[in-house]
Amino acid sequence: MKFLPAIKTLLVNYLNRGTELYDDPEKRHRILIINWFGMVGFSITFILGINAYFQNNDHLAIVLLLSCVLFFLSLLNHWKFLKQYRFETSATLIQLSLLALMLYLVYSGGANNTGPLWVFLVPPVMMFFGGLKGGLRNTSVFITCYCIIMFYPENQLLEASYTHEFKTRVLYSLITLTFLSGYYEYSRHQSFQHVKQLSAKFEQQALRDHLTDIPNRRAMMEQLNYEYARVVRNNYDMSILLIDVDFFKKINDKYGHQCGDEVLIKLAKSFTATLRKQDMISRWGGEEFLILLPHTGFNDAFEVAEKIRKTIQQNPITFDDKTIEITVSIGIGKADIHHSVDSAISQADEHLYQAKEEGRDSVYPKVDKIA
Ligand code: GH3
Ligand code: MG
Ligand code: MG
Repeated sequence: MKFLPAIKTLLVNYLNRGTELYDDPEKRHRILIINWFGMVGFSITFILGINAYFQNNDHLAIVLLLSCVLFFLSLLNHWKFLKQYRFETSATLIQLSLLALMLYLVYSGGANNTGPLWVFLVPPVMMFFGGLKGGLRNTSVFITCYCIIMFYPENQLLEASYTHEFKTRVLYSLITLTFLSGYYEYSRHQSFQHVKQLSAKFEQQALRDHLTDIPNRRAMMEQLNYEYARVVRNNYDMSILLIDVDFFKKINDKYGHQCGDEVLIKLAKSFTATLRKQDMISRWGGEEFLILLPHTGFNDAFEVAEKIRKTIQQNPITFDDKTIEITVSIGIGKADIHHSVDSAISQADEHLYQAKEEGRDSVYPKVDKIA
């Protein structure tokens, strides 16, 4: 009984092969379908081909086995010795093989004139592989070929013989199925896009602070790590400013929590307005904000910090006709190839503590601009 789970694992691994190379769920889905179809196509054409051979239907056996080879080649795309996996090539091979096989079955009648029954596979498979546009194009080409073979004067392009009713009914059903498959593909694509947009929106929301609508700590951590990779690559400096509102608890106590919230929103706007285009601000937590200054050494970071401190000090915040004087303390931290993001954050934290010790409304460390 251990046999079944082993086969299941083998099958699941096989079907997922190649999907790990892509993040896009649409591409992963397509690779899964290609893997599935390549295997099914290969097995069916192989079995039918051998069957046709033993029934002495040599032509059919050859065509089926040739298709089987094409399906097999589409699988070959997986094998390790091919350095680059191109799933589009697999998809094209499968579609070509299917189209050629179907046209041959229409022409020859297959086994006892049942060949045309397989053509109903064409619309859904083409939609799977080519999407709505590519699927409609390929199916139209197929239907045109079908019509030419079936309705050519005096059946000159046909080996098998079908009644006129049979030919037309197959054609009508094929067209109906094309519309149904097209509609199905269209709605599948629409809902997929919808889910994708929703997930992008949620992802976006997960990276923003709800109160101030600026990036949150998680977004900042991602950006810090991204920026730090450039610091290491290019031997740049980068600085961070850790800003803490002075005596914020008193503001809450005196004016109420709602006023405190409003102050945080206005502060976030004010910080954002002071920053340069390349800088990024985040709400680090509570009444603390962290600003990333890429490509910036201590001296320039000090200048930016002083500008922020003075702007806040000189522009009291108004709330319900009340004027609230605010000051902030700022600690500077620096990251470079020898100092990681974490060490820059700890440094900024220590410096913020020093700035508070100095009596608040202050930036630490002071940098002598002339030095
Ligand atoms: P210090 O100068 O030492 O920083 O004093 P402080 O009062 O600012 O520091 P403390 O850490 O004691 O208090 C921070 C306060 O910030 C406490 C907390 O209630 C308040 N706070 C944190 N997050 C929010 C928020 O989202 N909204 C409001 N209104 N208050 C908040
Ligand atoms: Mg604090
Ligand atoms: Mg504070």
